Amino acid sequence: MTTKEEYAATAKAAMLKPESEWTLQDKVAMAMDTSSIDRKMDEMDKLFKDMQHALADNLGGMFEVVHISKVDKEKVLIKEPTMSGIVDMIRSGKCKKVSFLNGAGISVPVGIPDFRSKGGFYATLKPEDLTATPSQREAIKADPTYVLSRKLFLVNQLPYLEQSRPFILGTYEKLWKPSLFHFLLRLFADHQMLGHVFTQNIDGLDYSTGITATNITSVHGTMTSVECEGCGNKIDNKKFYEHVKANVRNIYGESQPPGSDESQPMECPKCKRGLCKPSIVMFGSDMPTAFTEQSRRSNLIDVDLLIVAGTSLAVAPANGVVNKVTGHCARLICNRESVGHDLGIVYGDDAIRDVWREGNCDLAALELVTKLGWLDELRQYKTQMCDASQLLLDQKQTLTTPKTKQIEQNKTKQNKTKQTQQNKTNK
Ligand SMILES: [Zn+2]
Repeated sequence: MTTKEEYAATAKAAMLKPESEWTLQDKVAMAMDTSSIDRKMDEMDKLFKDMQHALADNLGGMFEVVHISKVDKEKVLIKEPTMSGIVDMIRSGKCKKVSFLNGAGISVPVGIPDFRSKGGFYATLKPEDLTATPSQREAIKADPTYVLSRKLFLVNQLPYLEQSRPFILGTYEKLWKPSLFHFLLRLFADHQMLGHVFTQNIDGLDYSTGITATNITSVHGTMTSVECEGCGNKIDNKKFYEHVKANVRNIYGESQPPGSDESQPMECPKCKRGLCKPSIVMFGSDMPTAFTEQSRRSNLIDVDLLIVAGTSLAVAPANGVVNKVTGHCARLICNRESVGHDLGIVYGDDAIRDVWREGNCDLAALELVTKLGWLDELRQYKTQMCDASQLLLDQKQTLTTPKTKQIEQNKTKQNKTKQTQQNKTNK
């Protein structure tokens, strides 16, 4: 009997000989050898899939179509769309790659002053405090986000630099530490399961957890690096920090270190324009090309679980990531509200692969970590976390120590005794 492998070997050897020397055995082997055909079929299959993805990407980009990925029930790894289902899926070993789409909600415990909400910096921003012309002040009054626009920055850099001074100084001084949720990324990296992290946050805290920087795409840029808005030249962080500290006015009162009486922008050593600023995306700027590249369907094809955390999924193109994963990828949404209905995320009885973990992101991460049995690993990073997250972890510790359990048990006993006594009195 001749096996498939023997036919393949004979056929391969025959191909090296001139046709005139082929024996009958060679010819039979070549006719019977299917390995090259199988390989070709696989290649064509892959090529076809790549073409489909490329087409979908391009169409989506051209027409801004929201692609809602079709659920492939057969391939869905998650057995039931609950937190336990997520945990079972991760523990089964079948879940190889976990990716993230993060928003402002994951940085709430960190305590960075909020830009956009009511009572945040925009709401309390006084245009008259900024170094600007009367017409620029009027425009800022009408729309406080104008401070963050490229249009204004190109003609007057000072409103942005003055408004952002505490964030620029605080970021360089590492004033803010990552939350407990940030370390969930680290744990998945430690377990060799971390895929890609798309973060809409500019605070750079995703990078502070020690995970490889190439695993992260900052969709809206980051405060942790500095560049020239005019020519893209990279600027030394320390030099920029020292410039802003010494040459930009402090408009925030005694809570901030004193600056100069008159603000000056920092000149770019390359193009000699005063356009140095943190590498964040301003309103009216192009999105970083890294996002377009990393969020291609072909790059997300092997993601088994997408964790979407602390984002309202209202801002494009970042929100498109939820539909760039395949139709069988499970999606865990950690948020106070059930978001993304318009993007095809399905909750409740009809859910197949989508899970909503209601509440704040740190609590969601803590629940996941506990159920996965990774709590001790998480505790190793405790001192690197922000105060609020450390406190949460301490409370968790108290809740699980045997002493507390004893107290709980005693309380239950006491309650039972009380109830029995009450029952007796009632009788
Ligand atoms: Zn420049």
